[in-house]
Amino acid sequence: MSGILGKGKPGAECNLVLLGVTGCGKSALTVKFLTKRFIGEYDPCLEDIYTSEEIVDQQLVTVRVMDTCDQGLPVNCERYLSWANAFLVVYSINNVESFHGCQLYLQILSSHNKTFRPQTPIILLGNKLDMDRYRLVSCDAEALATRFGCLFFELSACRDFESVQHVFYEAVRRSNRG
Ligand code: GDP
Ligand code: MG
Repeated sequence: MSGILGKGKPGAECNLVLLGVTGCGKSALTVKFLTKRFIGEYDPCLEDIYTSEEIVDQQLVTVRVMDTCDQGLPVNCERYLSWANAFLVVYSINNVESFHGCQLYLQILSSHNKTFRPQTPIILLGNKLDMDRYRLVSCDAEALATRFGCLFFELSACRDFESVQHVFYEAVRRSNRG
């Protein structure tokens, strides 16, 4: 290969897993990243893996996004643990229950950290930043991220595409694909 893609290893791949309680916006974030569009209503029971060819830091990467859906409590985590190169654990900043859900997911991930690849990054994501005036979760999130050694971002699936893309690309950059 030559030109802007010349520096990258051919065939780079990255598997991202989105976790979080129903309604926090995992599907909206996934769709935004893949299509640049905000889709307001999305089948809440749909779980799928989507593939997109992306150029991250001048390297072509096949990014796969698993948009998970757990009905109620986190179950059957084997389906993503060894597959993931990075985890994105999502809550909505205006919903305390969704934040508690993140704590549960982070505990599950830390209790299974022998199952997934070492140094697989976990990113805590506060979604629905456009709802800032109804915010119910703030500094607790930073403390949680510190406690579990996560990166932490706030963003909105219905605002600009660039900040959503930035977070997904950051997950790709930091992912453990070794
Ligand atoms: P999921 O169950 O985690 O996949 O959540 P969805 O992506 O289906 O989103 C649940 C609801 O939250 C839907 O009504 C979305 O329109 C809404 N939603 C998702 N992201 C945002 C956001 O960033 N801001 C606002 N205001 N609503 C959002
Ligand atoms: Mg969904």
